Amino acid sequence: MNMMTESRKPALIDRFGRHVTYVRMSVTDRCDFRCVYCMDEKMTFVPREQLLTLEEMGRLGRAFVKLGVHKIRLTGGEPLTRRNVMQLFNELGQLEDLRDFTLTTNGSQLPKYAQQLKVAGVTRINISLDTLDAERFRSLTRIGQIEQTLNGIDAALAAGFERIKLNAVILKNRNHDEIIPLVQFAYDKGIDISFIEEMPLGVITEHDRAEAYYSSDEILRDLRTQFELAPIAVNTGGPSKYYQSPGSKSRVGFISPHSHNFCDDCNRVRVTAEGRLLLCLGQEHSMDLRRVLRAHPLDEAPLLAAIQEAMSLKPKGHEFDLKAKPILFRHMNATGG
Ligand code: SAM
Ligand code: SF4
Repeated sequence: MNMMTESRKPALIDRFGRHVTYVRMSVTDRCDFRCVYCMDEKMTFVPREQLLTLEEMGRLGRAFVKLGVHKIRLTGGEPLTRRNVMQLFNELGQLEDLRDFTLTTNGSQLPKYAQQLKVAGVTRINISLDTLDAERFRSLTRIGQIEQTLNGIDAALAAGFERIKLNAVILKNRNHDEIIPLVQFAYDKGIDISFIEEMPLGVITEHDRAEAYYSSDEILRDLRTQFELAPIAVNTGGPSKYYQSPGSKSRVGFISPHSHNFCDDCNRVRVTAEGRLLLCLGQEHSMDLRRVLRAHPLDEAPLLAAIQEAMSLKPKGHEFDLKAKPILFRHMNATGG
């Protein structure tokens, strides 16, 4: 399949007419935290020799941009724990047609990297923060310290990115009582915040995902007891729906895979750290790009063709069901959230 737009520029268009312009690349499945909704306590990570090299990730990024992708997010696992990762940021940051170059991180390594990331061309950063309480932070991340993330947020602010957004996964009876303080924290720092409904990726034993479900509508209801919030028509290229309070520049977003399905206008694909192109967050449809990269180290054409062909595999949407047994065995750290 060789889809073309009117301007004859190659484009990635799936069977449902959705135009893929956004790629999330996982740099590693490893992490310096063990968040209870993301990983099980004991995890097996991909052996290092099976990971794409940073050079291979750079080649992939260039190929996607040639095919009309204009937004790349590097994620993981914790992307900033991969050795020499700045090499990849520096390479992708040079791509002229890449309009939006973003990162999702737990913030722990930002004091070391924030300034270099800004210089490399990263435009926006998402930092995960689910609680402002040190003990809770420890229990939600199992091994993290809240100062690591708070210092990371301050380092990102000092580096001067276009926008910084907090990501908070809300679990009933764990941190749902912190929704208002988390928004107040974002307002005080002058940054955005998105609330995420937990998704059933991988088997976890720490809690029952159905029992812990707290919907975006409940979160918005709670917030409106304290803040005036009106919907705003802003599209950052992702699945968040945004609201704003009068006089505040911070946006409050909601990522609602269960209560407000976002599949109809999905513009995204993901690449795992071992080079598997995932066509949907919630389905197994995938293509092995590592094989293509390694079979044709000097020829881009087979890689471009494989990515275009993979568009025919993109399914209509996810079928998340919190009450059923997980249909997906890969955890979020292996998916590239
Ligand atoms: N380590 C980085 C971080 O935590 O920001 C990047 C990778 S992490 C997998 C990306 C995002 O996915 C984080 O905001 C995290 O909170 C979210 N996440 C992880 N597991 C999730 C799950 N089961 N459901 C919903 N969001 C999840
Ligand atoms: Fe690590 Fe991010 Fe998963 Fe937490 S959510 S365990 S920080 S990859």
